[in-house]
Amino acid sequence: MTGWSKFGNRFTRYTGARALMDDLGSAMSSPHPVCMLGGGNPAHIPEVENLFREELIRLLGDDQEYRRMLGNYPSPAGEERFRGVLAELLNSEYGLDVSAKNIALTNGSQSGFFLLFNLLAGVQQDGSFKKILLPLTPEYIGYSDVGIEPDMLTALRPSIDILPDNLFKYRLNPAELEIGDDIAAMCISRPTNPTGNVLTDAEVSQLATLAKTNGIPLIIDNAYGMPFPQILFTETTLFWDPSIILCMSMSKLGLPGIRTGIVVASEEIVDALASMTSVMSLAVPSIGAVLLSDMVASRQILEISEHIVRPFYTDKMKQALGFAHAALKGLPYHVHKPEGALFLWLWFPDLPISSKELYQRLKHRDVLVLSGHNFFPGLEEEWQHQHECLRVTYTQDAEVVRRGLQAIAEEVSRAYAETA
Ligand code: PLP
Repeated sequence: MTGWSKFGNRFTRYTGARALMDDLGSAMSSPHPVCMLGGGNPAHIPEVENLFREELIRLLGDDQEYRRMLGNYPSPAGEERFRGVLAELLNSEYGLDVSAKNIALTNGSQSGFFLLFNLLAGVQQDGSFKKILLPLTPEYIGYSDVGIEPDMLTALRPSIDILPDNLFKYRLNPAELEIGDDIAAMCISRPTNPTGNVLTDAEVSQLATLAKTNGIPLIIDNAYGMPFPQILFTETTLFWDPSIILCMSMSKLGLPGIRTGIVVASEEIVDALASMTSVMSLAVPSIGAVLLSDMVASRQILEISEHIVRPFYTDKMKQALGFAHAALKGLPYHVHKPEGALFLWLWFPDLPISSKELYQRLKHRDVLVLSGHNFFPGLEEEWQHQHECLRVTYTQDAEVVRRGLQAIAEEVSRAYAETA
């Protein structure tokens, strides 16, 4: 073998995402008990799991549903009935104006981003090169390496609002926001992984207007948002018009193994995704779509999200925030105001060691978190802030989260003391 192709080289290199997944994998198989505050797996909520289990058993006992789920190839845009009932829900509950033709399913939303970013950005037909703009970093690490071409992302620094009670919030920095000819699309996650930020309605409107004025799409990654799973602790509006590409996922409802992402977009984009899916995998699995069809049609999915999933994570978030404040008291720290998703984002201003070193020290204590420096994809300038943050997942049992935050406080205190 003389080596891989250029494509092969690009997708087999040791990316940041691969390093993180390896680290998480080896921690999971460690002989010592590990305080696992690093992954992005949703919590196992028994009440939700039971509802999905019962629905699955019901469907498997019905010949027609069994065939829809397992026995037939669906169309390349995804299982038809699910796309229809979801369109109906989005229209009647949120005032959208979409049909099944505006909805494509993907093999998890992660592969949706692979398809979308490469559909829009990279080398254009006229030979020019276009990028995806992330208008507010920190942003989801999963966007980092999906480009077939290198350097397909560019990103902006936010402004920072310091809030009472050791909280802070990232805001869009309008002064920096300029859309050049080299931008193919903008992308935001809302709620944001890793910070738990939810861009305000005003910020999203501003981005949507800017996108429309410049004739580019705004991709909104809604993996934690409305209508499901609603891991949201603040009120938001669900935005959509044909220039918005709204990406949703079944994963954070508790179904990451089902690998189903949903893209709500113009018919042109949906048709392009269907063509790409036909080449890559003929079709997307129907298991998730059939499992959730009746729950979407009956609106039970909204009940589950609003009355079980959202309160579950709201309690988890409040508990974790309480542990963080108790453990970090007296240290220089800020926590990003948690408005959604599964994470606390901790910022230690002027931390004398890098967050990567802090991560290593915690790993030696069998406490696994993620170093913040991983979450600035596309940011070209050096920014000290990138090395002062940690992401802590709070889906584990209370005692694990409390112990982990206590260990973080001890290591941070030691680090500040080293240079005092
Ligand atoms: N978007 C965000 C913001 C995420 O946090 C994740 C997973 O952690 C994804 C997308 C990908 O989710 P999936 O591919 O499981 O749908």
